Amino acid sequence: MPISPRHSLRAILLVPLAIYACGESSFEPVDVQPLIPPPVYRTWWSEVAACTGVTAPFEQVTWYEASQLIDRETGRDHVGAWKPPHTIYIHSDYLLYVAGVKHEMVHEQLQTRDHRTEAFLRCAGV
Ligand SMILES: [Zn+2]
Repeated sequence: MPISPRHSLRAILLVPLAIYACGESSFEPVDVQPLIPPPVYRTWWSEVAACTGVTAPFEQVTWYEASQLIDRETGRDHVGAWKPPHTIYIHSDYLLYVAGVKHEMVHEQLQTRDHRTEAFLRCAGV
């Protein structure tokens, strides 16, 4: 039986190829599927919340995975994307990439697309 990307651990072994398309209107998710967040996401959410100081309901987020998150302007694929107000897309190959997922959580908790915000580096590492 083939191993689905959802269950693959390669995400934590890969160096991310891609940057983030968060909040950009030009990004285009491909092959989008609803994502039931892995249980570890709640742990990461709590860790990010402790760092940002923002209390926001985890259940408010709608999660999707996509086989590609293409920026139509640059043609580049991305690890994740946040779409205001409460939608997060994660690339199928990076579902367990902690820094990438936490990065999108910072967007969600702070409700900002401004990557100059120091919380991204402090709370997600990227
Ligand atoms: Zn971002």
